[in-house]
Amino acid sequence: MINISDKQQMAQDKKLIIGNWKMNLDMHEASLYLHKLSKLIKNHRDVEVVLAPTVLSLQSLSLQVNLRQFKLAAQNFYWRDMGAYTGEVSASQLRGIVQYALVGHSERRHVFGETDKDVCNKVAAAVRNGIRPVICIGETAWDRSNNETQDVLHDQLIGGLANITSEELSQVVIAYEPVWAVGTGQNALLGDVRLAIMMIRKQIENLYGATAAASAQVLYGGSVTTDSAADYLALPGVDGLLIGAASLNAYVFSEIIKRAHKGSTLAKKD
Ligand code: PEP
Repeated sequence: MINISDKQQMAQDKKLIIGNWKMNLDMHEASLYLHKLSKLIKNHRDVEVVLAPTVLSLQSLSLQVNLRQFKLAAQNFYWRDMGAYTGEVSASQLRGIVQYALVGHSERRHVFGETDKDVCNKVAAAVRNGIRPVICIGETAWDRSNNETQDVLHDQLIGGLANITSEELSQVVIAYEPVWAVGTGQNALLGDVRLAIMMIRKQIENLYGATAAASAQVLYGGSVTTDSAADYLALPGVDGLLIGAASLNAYVFSEIIKRAHKGSTLAKKD
Protein backbone atom coordinates (compact mmCIF):
# COMPACT_ATOMS: atom_id res chain seq x y z
CA MET A 1 0.00 0.00 0.00
CA ILE A 2 1.47 3.37 -1.00
CA ASN A 3 1.68 5.85 1.82
CA ILE A 4 2.35 9.52 1.23
CA SER A 5 3.72 11.45 4.19
CA ASP A 6 2.87 15.14 4.51
CA LYS A 7 6.42 16.13 3.57
CA GLN A 8 6.41 14.01 0.43
CA GLN A 9 2.96 15.28 -0.44
CA MET A 10 4.30 18.86 -0.24
CA ALA A 11 7.19 18.01 -2.55
CA GLN A 12 4.77 16.45 -5.05
CA ASP A 13 2.49 19.45 -4.80
CA LYS A 14 5.13 21.44 -6.66
CA LYS A 15 4.39 20.69 -10.32
CA LEU A 16 7.29 20.34 -12.73
CA ILE A 17 6.78 21.82 -16.21
CA ILE A 18 9.59 21.22 -18.71
CA GLY A 19 9.79 22.84 -22.14
CA ASN A 20 11.80 20.81 -24.67
CA TRP A 21 12.71 23.08 -27.56
CA LYS A 22 14.37 20.25 -29.49
CA MET A 23 16.50 21.60 -32.40
CA ASN A 24 14.63 24.93 -32.54
CA LEU A 25 15.42 28.57 -31.64
CA ASP A 26 18.88 30.02 -32.16
CA MET A 27 20.84 31.77 -29.40
CA HIS A 28 19.26 35.15 -30.08
CA GLU A 29 15.72 33.72 -30.16
CA ALA A 30 16.41 31.73 -27.00
CA SER A 31 17.50 34.84 -25.15
CA LEU A 32 14.44 36.79 -26.31
CA TYR A 33 12.18 33.91 -25.32
CA LEU A 34 13.62 33.83 -21.80
CA HIS A 35 13.16 37.57 -21.48
CA LYS A 36 9.52 37.29 -22.62
CA LEU A 37 8.71 34.32 -20.40
CA SER A 38 10.13 36.03 -17.32
CA LYS A 39 7.75 38.95 -17.96
CA LEU A 40 4.76 36.62 -18.49
CA ILE A 41 5.39 34.43 -15.44
CA LYS A 42 5.74 36.39 -12.24
CA ASN A 43 4.99 34.12 -9.35
CA HIS A 44 5.03 30.38 -9.56
CA ARG A 45 6.21 29.11 -6.22
CA ASP A 46 4.15 25.95 -6.64
CA VAL A 47 5.55 25.24 -10.11
CA GLU A 48 9.12 24.46 -11.14
CA VAL A 49 9.64 25.61 -14.73
CA VAL A 50 12.52 24.10 -16.70
CA LEU A 51 13.71 25.11 -20.17
CA ALA A 52 15.62 22.69 -22.39
CA PRO A 53 17.17 24.71 -25.25
CA THR A 54 19.76 23.39 -27.72
CA VAL A 55 23.17 22.89 -26.17
CA LEU A 56 24.42 25.98 -28.04
CA SER A 57 22.22 28.31 -25.99
CA LEU A 58 22.74 26.69 -22.62
CA GLN A 59 25.73 28.69 -21.46
CA SER A 60 24.38 32.10 -22.45
CA LEU A 61 20.97 31.32 -20.94
CA SER A 62 22.68 30.14 -17.75
CA LEU A 63 24.13 33.65 -17.40
CA GLN A 64 20.79 35.32 -18.17
CA VAL A 65 18.41 33.12 -16.20
CA ASN A 66 17.15 33.88 -12.71
CA LEU A 67 17.34 30.43 -11.13
CA ARG A 68 14.62 31.29 -8.65
CA GLN A 69 12.34 31.70 -11.63
CA PHE A 70 13.43 29.03 -14.11
CA LYS A 71 15.83 26.11 -14.28
CA LEU A 72 17.71 24.80 -17.33
CA ALA A 73 17.95 21.32 -18.78
CA ALA A 74 20.24 19.67 -21.32
CA GLN A 75 18.45 17.73 -24.04
CA ASN A 76 21.30 15.26 -24.26
CA PHE A 77 24.88 14.53 -23.14
CA TYR A 78 27.43 11.72 -23.22
CA TRP A 79 27.83 9.60 -20.10
CA ARG A 80 31.61 9.64 -19.77
CA ASP A 81 33.03 12.64 -17.94
CA MET A 82 35.86 13.39 -20.43
CA GLY A 83 37.99 11.90 -23.16
CA ALA A 84 38.30 11.31 -26.89
CA TYR A 85 34.60 11.51 -27.79
CA THR A 86 34.48 14.00 -30.66
CA GLY A 87 31.31 16.05 -30.82
CA GLU A 88 30.06 15.07 -27.39
CA VAL A 89 29.38 17.09 -24.23
CA SER A 90 29.59 15.45 -20.80
CA ALA A 91 27.44 15.80 -17.71
CA SER A 92 30.53 17.01 -15.84
CA GLN A 93 30.88 19.85 -18.39
CA LEU A 94 27.18 20.71 -17.96
CA ARG A 95 27.51 20.79 -14.17
CA GLY A 96 26.73 24.29 -12.90
CA ILE A 97 25.04 25.20 -16.21
CA VAL A 98 21.98 22.95 -16.02
CA GLN A 99 19.98 21.54 -13.15
CA TYR A 100 18.16 18.87 -15.20
CA ALA A 101 18.89 16.72 -18.25
CA LEU A 102 16.57 14.72 -20.50
CA VAL A 103 17.66 11.12 -20.86
CA GLY A 104 16.28 8.54 -23.27
CA HIS A 105 13.89 10.90 -25.04
CA SER A 106 12.02 8.92 -27.71
CA GLU A 107 13.79 10.90 -30.44
CA ARG A 108 17.14 9.86 -28.96
CA ARG A 109 16.01 6.24 -28.68
CA HIS A 110 14.37 5.97 -32.09
CA VAL A 111 16.33 8.40 -34.30
CA PHE A 112 19.78 7.97 -32.72
CA GLY A 113 19.48 4.38 -31.50
CA GLU A 114 19.96 5.09 -27.80
CA THR A 115 19.59 1.87 -25.78
CA ASP A 116 18.49 1.19 -22.21
CA LYS A 117 22.20 0.62 -21.41
CA ASP A 118 23.04 4.13 -22.71
CA VAL A 119 20.14 5.52 -20.70
CA CYS A 120 21.34 3.72 -17.57
CA ASN A 121 24.89 5.10 -18.00
CA LYS A 122 23.58 8.62 -18.63
CA VAL A 123 21.29 8.55 -15.60
CA ALA A 124 24.24 7.57 -13.41
CA ALA A 125 26.45 10.26 -14.99
CA ALA A 126 23.83 12.94 -14.40
CA VAL A 127 23.31 11.95 -10.77
CA ARG A 128 27.05 11.81 -10.01
CA ASN A 129 27.35 15.33 -11.44
CA GLY A 130 24.48 16.76 -9.41
CA ILE A 131 22.09 17.01 -12.38
CA ARG A 132 18.54 15.60 -12.16
CA PRO A 133 17.95 13.16 -15.02
CA VAL A 134 14.48 13.12 -16.57
CA ILE A 135 14.16 9.55 -17.84
CA CYS A 136 11.71 9.39 -20.75
CA ILE A 137 9.94 6.09 -21.22
CA GLY A 138 7.05 5.08 -23.45
CA GLU A 139 5.66 2.58 -25.88
CA THR A 140 5.53 2.88 -29.66
CA ALA A 141 2.29 2.52 -31.64
CA TRP A 142 3.37 -1.04 -32.48
CA ASP A 143 3.96 -1.88 -28.79
CA ARG A 144 0.57 -0.45 -27.96
CA SER A 145 -1.35 -2.38 -30.60
CA ASN A 146 0.43 -5.57 -29.55
CA ASN A 147 -0.39 -5.07 -25.84
CA GLU A 148 3.29 -4.59 -25.03
CA THR A 149 2.95 -1.27 -23.19
CA GLN A 150 3.39 -2.72 -19.71
CA ASP A 151 6.46 -4.77 -20.72
CA VAL A 152 8.06 -1.81 -22.48
CA LEU A 153 7.55 0.51 -19.51
CA HIS A 154 8.86 -2.20 -17.20
CA ASP A 155 12.01 -2.80 -19.27
CA GLN A 156 12.78 0.87 -19.86
CA LEU A 157 12.28 1.69 -16.20
CA ILE A 158 14.40 -1.21 -14.94
CA GLY A 159 17.04 -0.42 -17.57
CA GLY A 160 17.15 3.30 -16.81
CA LEU A 161 17.25 2.90 -13.04
CA ALA A 162 19.72 -0.01 -12.94
CA ASN A 163 22.54 2.08 -11.40
CA ILE A 164 20.36 4.15 -9.08
CA THR A 165 20.20 3.46 -5.33
CA SER A 166 17.11 4.20 -3.23
CA GLU A 167 18.95 7.25 -1.79
CA GLU A 168 19.52 8.59 -5.29
CA LEU A 169 15.98 7.97 -6.53
CA SER A 170 14.73 11.34 -5.28
CA GLN A 171 17.15 12.98 -7.77
CA VAL A 172 15.47 11.23 -10.68
CA VAL A 173 12.36 12.28 -12.62
CA ILE A 174 10.40 9.85 -14.80
CA ALA A 175 8.50 11.14 -17.83
CA TYR A 176 5.89 8.88 -19.38
CA GLU A 177 5.81 9.78 -23.07
CA PRO A 178 3.97 7.41 -25.41
CA VAL A 179 6.13 7.59 -28.55
CA TRP A 180 3.11 7.74 -30.86
CA ALA A 181 1.90 10.88 -29.05
CA VAL A 182 5.23 12.77 -29.15
CA GLY A 183 5.29 15.44 -31.85
CA THR A 184 2.26 13.96 -33.65
CA GLY A 185 -0.64 15.99 -32.28
CA GLN A 186 -2.24 12.73 -31.11
CA ASN A 187 -3.65 12.83 -27.60
CA ALA A 188 -3.39 9.88 -25.26
CA LEU A 189 -6.65 9.10 -23.47
CA LEU A 190 -6.70 10.28 -19.86
CA GLY A 191 -7.63 6.78 -18.67
CA ASP A 192 -4.66 5.25 -20.52
CA VAL A 193 -2.24 7.81 -19.08
CA ARG A 194 -3.62 7.20 -15.60
CA LEU A 195 -3.10 3.46 -16.02
CA ALA A 196 0.45 3.86 -17.34
CA ILE A 197 1.39 6.19 -14.47
CA MET A 198 -0.01 3.65 -12.00
CA MET A 199 2.06 0.91 -13.65
CA ILE A 200 5.18 3.08 -13.40
CA ARG A 201 4.60 3.78 -9.69
CA LYS A 202 3.90 0.08 -9.06
CA GLN A 203 7.19 -0.79 -10.75
CA ILE A 204 9.05 1.78 -8.64
CA GLU A 205 7.37 0.29 -5.57
CA ASN A 206 8.60 -3.18 -6.56
CA LEU A 207 12.13 -1.84 -6.98
CA TYR A 208 12.43 0.66 -4.12
CA GLY A 209 9.41 0.26 -1.85
CA ALA A 210 6.12 2.05 -1.28
CA THR A 211 7.53 5.29 0.15
CA ALA A 212 9.82 5.80 -2.84
CA ALA A 213 6.95 5.05 -5.23
CA ALA A 214 4.72 7.61 -3.55
CA SER A 215 7.32 10.37 -3.62
CA ALA A 216 8.77 9.68 -7.09
CA GLN A 217 8.24 12.52 -9.53
CA VAL A 218 6.39 11.27 -12.63
CA LEU A 219 5.51 13.53 -15.57
CA TYR A 220 3.38 13.12 -18.66
CA GLY A 221 4.35 14.25 -22.14
CA GLY A 222 2.97 13.88 -25.67
CA SER A 223 1.46 16.71 -27.75
CA VAL A 224 0.17 18.51 -24.66
CA THR A 225 -1.42 21.91 -25.43
CA THR A 226 -3.02 24.70 -23.42
CA ASP A 227 -6.34 22.90 -23.93
CA SER A 228 -5.21 19.51 -22.61
CA ALA A 229 -2.65 20.53 -19.96
CA ALA A 230 -5.07 20.96 -17.04
CA ASP A 231 -6.70 17.56 -17.66
CA TYR A 232 -3.39 15.71 -17.67
CA LEU A 233 -2.17 17.64 -14.63
CA ALA A 234 -5.33 16.71 -12.73
CA LEU A 235 -4.69 12.97 -13.15
CA PRO A 236 -3.68 11.26 -9.92
CA GLY A 237 0.06 10.58 -9.86
CA VAL A 238 0.94 13.14 -12.56
CA ASP A 239 3.46 15.58 -11.08
CA GLY A 240 4.00 17.70 -14.16
CA LEU A 241 4.39 17.84 -17.92
CA LEU A 242 7.10 17.55 -20.55
CA ILE A 243 6.11 19.82 -23.42
CA GLY A 244 7.66 19.95 -26.88
CA ALA A 245 5.96 21.96 -29.65
CA ALA A 246 3.74 23.97 -27.30
CA SER A 247 6.81 25.23 -25.41
CA LEU A 248 8.28 26.96 -28.47
CA ASN A 249 6.13 30.02 -28.04
CA ALA A 250 6.70 31.86 -24.74
CA TYR A 251 3.09 33.03 -24.51
CA VAL A 252 1.61 29.56 -25.15
CA PHE A 253 4.08 28.01 -22.69
CA SER A 254 3.21 30.60 -20.04
CA GLU A 255 -0.47 29.67 -20.42
CA ILE A 256 0.40 26.03 -19.75
CA ILE A 257 2.46 27.02 -16.71
CA LYS A 258 -0.54 28.98 -15.41
CA ARG A 259 -2.63 25.80 -15.60
CA ALA A 260 -0.22 24.15 -13.18
CA HIS A 261 -0.81 26.81 -10.50
CA LYS A 262 -2.99 25.53 -7.73
CA GLY A 263 -4.75 28.83 -7.24
CA SER A 264 -5.23 29.55 -10.94
CA THR A 265 -8.72 29.70 -12.36
CA LEU A 266 -7.20 27.95 -15.40
CA ALA A 267 -6.21 24.92 -13.31
CA LYS A 268 -8.59 22.01 -13.12
CA LYS A 269 -10.45 22.04 -9.79
CA ASP A 270 -10.83 18.80 -7.77
C1 PEP B 1 8.65 16.07 -26.15
O1 PEP B 1 9.48 16.58 -26.91
O2 PEP B 1 9.01 15.42 -25.16
C2 PEP B 1 7.23 16.21 -26.47
C3 PEP B 1 6.35 15.72 -25.64
O3 PEP B 1 6.93 16.86 -27.64
P1 PEP B 1 5.46 17.32 -28.11
O4 PEP B 1 4.84 18.04 -26.94
O5 PEP B 1 5.69 18.18 -29.27
O6 PEP B 1 4.70 16.07 -28.41
